[in-house]
Amino acid sequence: MTQAGSEKKRLLQRLEEGPVLCAEGYLFELERRGYLQAGAFVPEAVLDHPEVVSQLHREFLRAGSDVVEAFTYYGHREKLRLIGKEDKLEPLQKNALALARAAADEFPDAAPLVAGNICNTNIYDPADSATANQVRAMFDEQVAWAAEAGVDFIIAETIEFAAEAEIALQAIRATGLPAVVTLAVHKPGVLRDEVAPEEACRRLEHAGAAVVGLNCARGPATMLGMLTDIRKAVSCPVAALPVPYRTSPETPTFQSLEDPCCAQLPPEGPFPTALDPFICNRYEMAAFAREAFDAGVRYLGVCCGGAPHHVRAMAEALGRRPPASRYSPDISKHYALGDDSSLKRVNLDYADEL
Ligand SMILES: [Zn+2]
Repeated sequence: MTQAGSEKKRLLQRLEEGPVLCAEGYLFELERRGYLQAGAFVPEAVLDHPEVVSQLHREFLRAGSDVVEAFTYYGHREKLRLIGKEDKLEPLQKNALALARAAADEFPDAAPLVAGNICNTNIYDPADSATANQVRAMFDEQVAWAAEAGVDFIIAETIEFAAEAEIALQAIRATGLPAVVTLAVHKPGVLRDEVAPEEACRRLEHAGAAVVGLNCARGPATMLGMLTDIRKAVSCPVAALPVPYRTSPETPTFQSLEDPCCAQLPPEGPFPTALDPFICNRYEMAAFAREAFDAGVRYLGVCCGGAPHHVRAMAEALGRRPPASRYSPDISKHYALGDDSSLKRVNLDYADEL
């Protein structure tokens, strides 16, 4: 059996045994923490502040993620060209992969899977066939570094065109590693090349994807229905990694959210830097994990906006007790809201005034 063959068993075997949880959302979280610039959204922190990336990997693993995804999202050639740092492409990619591996090694008992990552290139244009080759070249160089780093599988994510997803899948398949391919579906409810999500997933399964599904763009409320359609259309494991924002039928994506109550909004609106009032709480994400699991989804996670408390709540909703569960809430000890016998009546009686 080849190296790739034995690796493949790891992801698929885990999916046969139960759900796999994958924390994402590095870009937004590091932007909030002050280590990454909104706009270009290039993960320079991988080179400039590697300890911060390692810490976030650690936090997601403590919260129950089964996967450490190398933080190469938007660290591709096109993005680095945009900020005039194309020379940093290879060190950024390799460092991100090394950081992911090192984080996984900190958790020998859980033995998390390490995933490489490729994503929307932003150069694909269905009207310009030359871009397909450029996209393939970008994917090829990235998957080669991921394979060289010994990842367990490779994620192609946030892809908005069915055809670009197929190119990504071909590039991953050429390494022999399993491919998890997840699509981002915007307001129209179909991919940008007008393919329905379930049809795109069906094609990807036929082309050899190990796992297919959706990530980013949509929150739990506007992703769930699509997952049901995808589940019916394919026989392979289905993935769901929504953004933890309160999207609705009127505003189905986090890019489309509006905030008429806020007088200080930047001109572009709440997305991407003023989404705070829309964030789902941990209980909503736990409910999503249960509902998606009941709908047959087995590869679950969270995308942009996700934080460790979401991941822990999802892990617990799936019956897990990850290391961070040691600190899961116990309100019985709260000075005014609790019911511990040692708490003072003077504070308990004041609870309604808080
Ligand atoms: Zn996202």
